[in-house]
Amino acid sequence: MDHSSYNPFKIAQYQFDKVADLLELDEGVRKLLRQPMREYHFTIPVRMDDGNVRVFNGFRVQHNDARGPAKGGIRFHPMETIDTVRALSMWMTWKCAVVDIPLGGGKGGVICDPHQLSMREQEQICRGWVRQLAKNIGPWSDVPAPDVMTNGQHMLWMLDEFETIHGGRFPGFITGKPLGSGGSQGRTEATGFGVVYVIGAALEELGINIEKTTASIQGFGNVAQYAARLYTQHGGKVVAISCWDQTDMTSYTYRKKGGVNVIELQEIADKFGGIDKKLAADLGYEQLPGDAWLQQEVDILIPAAIESQIHRGNVDLISPKVKVIAEGANGPTTPEADEVLLQRGILTLPDFLANAGGVTCSYFEQVQCNSNYFWDKHEVLDKLEKYMTTAFTMVSEVSRRQKIGMRDAAYVIAINRVAQAVQARGWA
Ligand code: GLU
Repeated sequence: MDHSSYNPFKIAQYQFDKVADLLELDEGVRKLLRQPMREYHFTIPVRMDDGNVRVFNGFRVQHNDARGPAKGGIRFHPMETIDTVRALSMWMTWKCAVVDIPLGGGKGGVICDPHQLSMREQEQICRGWVRQLAKNIGPWSDVPAPDVMTNGQHMLWMLDEFETIHGGRFPGFITGKPLGSGGSQGRTEATGFGVVYVIGAALEELGINIEKTTASIQGFGNVAQYAARLYTQHGGKVVAISCWDQTDMTSYTYRKKGGVNVIELQEIADKFGGIDKKLAADLGYEQLPGDAWLQQEVDILIPAAIESQIHRGNVDLISPKVKVIAEGANGPTTPEADEVLLQRGILTLPDFLANAGGVTCSYFEQVQCNSNYFWDKHEVLDKLEKYMTTAFTMVSEVSRRQKIGMRDAAYVIAINRVAQAVQARGWA
């Protein structure tokens, strides 16, 4: 199967059904949880810089809010589909549940390519997105955040539009805001750092010293950059990074003798985490095909780009040396590839556990906004590490006790928590 044809929503449902069977989940609860509770599809007309009006398509999907307001990011992506947003909203429900924060799951998107849009045009998309949803989202019901190709600036435009419409200040409406505008210390780093906290806990269980390990990373956006930074700070060596080159509209794997220097690559990366291959060559990086990141002889693979990147067609290219796969991205591994990894004894740290650092810090941001008292970075990251390692330990215990893979174990914990909330409310 061509990997671009994988449907993330079908995959999310497949993963859910498998564990729902295992748990012998109540039929009503199962019917409710295997699809989103609410979906919004709408248009966003924008007057472009050239004077013409262009109409963008936007979505917001609220998968489940039994444990608290729906929570999840907004993606700007030219290939966005409603099924991708559905899957991502579902994974958000499990993500919030597995780290045990009082939030549900949601996700949003706009079909657009920010590379081709001016800042003013992006601002209009952000404001238009909020205008279409102003009555259906809010601190009490659904709290957006950044995701692929959106950042703090987008969040602030959205907040400003929401506050203008509702007439007041509601900093808890959105998270991932810039510092000084209601943002939390550590939020930018949180997802990537969280991936490394979980890797650290996993290596400890395996009896492996992180300083002796090597890693290869797919992606160089927010998650990948901060994961690479903390991992190297802990003494690990990043051997290769694969990312997008905007001029060629293709991706390359960049590799350098002695390892990747994350800081120097951050300096030449564009704001979407793309790297121009000529700039990389000037710094002495060799360029391999985009998917070569997967074939590196390393201990750890970190897919931190987008969905369905490890699939039946390439899973066998993974080196026998690989011991851990930490999913920084949402949904990077298809179920068929997952099965192969399990058979091979590779420890997969599933997405909604490994990358839960972002939403956990978003929760801290809400707590700080609500109490109007902001913590220092040390306090934020300290708490973040505790949430992440506690969740890892629970998942690892369930995996061992029930003799199931880490993904299924994470699902067991998350589904049980959400099912309990749904039943306690009398919804099923
Ligand atoms: N977009 C991030 C994720 O997929 C963060 C979501 C949030 O902070 O609400 O987990």
